Amino acid sequence: MPATAPHPVPDAHGRNLYNTDPDLARLLPLYLPAALCAHLQPHLQRLGGLAGGVLDSLAQTADKHPPTLEHRTRTGLDRQRILKHPAYVEMERVAFGEYGLAAMSHRGGVLGWPDPLPAAAKYALTYLFVQAEFGLCCPLSMTDSLTRTLRKFGAPALLERYLPGLTAQVLDDLTQGAMFMTEQGAGSDVAATATRAVPDGEAYRLHGDKWFCSNPDAGLAMVLARIDGAPAGMGGVSLFLLPRTLPDGSANAYRIVRLKDKLGTRSMASGEIRLEGARAWLVGEAGRGFPQMADMVNNSRLSNGVRAAGLMRRACSEAFFVAAERQAFGRRLQDLPLMRRQLLKLLLPAEQARSMVFQTADALRRADAGEAGAHPLVRLFTPLIKFRACRDARKVTGDAMEVRGGCGYIEDWADPRLLRDAHLGSIWEGTSNIVALDVLRAIRRERALPVWQAHVQGLLDAAPLHPQARRVFDATFFRSLCLLVWASG
Ligand SMILES: Cc1cc2nc3c(=O)[nH]c(=O)nc-3n(C[C@H](O)[C@H](O)[C@H](O)COP(=O)(O)OP(=O)(O)OC[C@H]3O[C@@H](n4cnc5c(N)ncnc54)[C@H](O)[C@@H]3O)c2cc1C
Repeated sequence: MPATAPHPVPDAHGRNLYNTDPDLARLLPLYLPAALCAHLQPHLQRLGGLAGGVLDSLAQTADKHPPTLEHRTRTGLDRQRILKHPAYVEMERVAFGEYGLAAMSHRGGVLGWPDPLPAAAKYALTYLFVQAEFGLCCPLSMTDSLTRTLRKFGAPALLERYLPGLTAQVLDDLTQGAMFMTEQGAGSDVAATATRAVPDGEAYRLHGDKWFCSNPDAGLAMVLARIDGAPAGMGGVSLFLLPRTLPDGSANAYRIVRLKDKLGTRSMASGEIRLEGARAWLVGEAGRGFPQMADMVNNSRLSNGVRAAGLMRRACSEAFFVAAERQAFGRRLQDLPLMRRQLLKLLLPAEQARSMVFQTADALRRADAGEAGAHPLVRLFTPLIKFRACRDARKVTGDAMEVRGGCGYIEDWADPRLLRDAHLGSIWEGTSNIVALDVLRAIRRERALPVWQAHVQGLLDAAPLHPQARRVFDATFFRSLCLLVWASG
């Protein structure tokens, strides 16, 4: 580190966010097979360079130029289109195209690897990408999660028709995914879903209003609706696949009524949709809409945890850079005792979230391989990381902003964008209270507590801890167990 900074206002732009994060490189061999880990190194390094440079600039531009909704063509045809800024489209090309982030779990051939990539690889790359751009990570996760749910529950004919588009890496061939669940009267309380599904031959016609629809011009969306005559409550809600364009090439019968003016994720469109007899196909079993949609929601809750961890890492990396370069009272900020304390308070939740990302990714890999005991762990870790990391990200990005002083509050820098984006993580895909209740549900229904206890015990036993530190861990662990046993009744 230079004794005197080259300029009094330090700027970290252009730094490689992988090379400047050696702890990430040290973690990966613990979770990835050696050959794959070595294969991914150049890709991680390149993405780290892009995230700290070009992508960061594109994200800044896209944030300042949100998408707009066009209802008619210039020749007067009623054809809706969302106009995305070229900076956002270029980020789509990098994320969906070059890095295949939405495709890599579902087929081989992405990044030159013959098999589908494990969750730990996808999340390591996402963790880097999101340090530059958060908004686009929603369409990426929606596309990935929709594909997962369709593969699990969709009819073979639907899968055959749509899988190639969902996993395409050429933008012109790509079909993006979305999830239209929330209604004015049905947010957390999904059982109140009022959208109607009217049988129409081998498909259904959907009628109703969806109140929050991110990526509203996606080619495919998973939609919750109630088949006419179905019972009230959750047992009457079914899952449907809604294409934007019907197989005969005509536009499906729904309209984007307007786009939301949002605090964060300003680069990406979120809208309101009116379904006017739109044709859709039932996915899986009628009446099991929510349990099936929960699969998609859980995958995207986990992705939210990853994104929150990435936002915190970026906030820390900015704060540590500034603290090393900026001088006050003749000393570098990082040498001032209170600043050292502040930096440590940023680092702790950021590292905690990062550990949780890879622990959950590993549990997911084991669960998908059918390993006994892994599924309850994923069910517990997913709402846990969504709750903890998303809430911590609000505080960490806010406190990191303060390290930059007044400049931290100015929109020329990444700090305000990180803070605005961080606040969304706790709200969408289940608010904090809702995911906290889901932790208890995982404990009660999946009997996750003994599995978690054995897992943590194993990690503690394997760690070369100082006896004093071990005693602190054991006491904390015991207290958490007592709380969970009491809370889950
Ligand atoms: C930018 C943005 C994009 C979004 N994109 C999508 C999308 O693409 N698709 C989609 O389907 N939805 C989307 N959403 C909607 C989002 O998932 C919901 O807003 C969220 O689930 C909360 O629902 P609600 O707004 O109806 O709030 P409510 O459910 O009314 O909740 C209000 C408050 O009550 C609390 N609460 C509710 N139930 C309980 C309980 N049992 N115990 C304690 N507290 C409780 C909640 O925690 C919250 O604090 C998006 C939202 C935003 C802001």
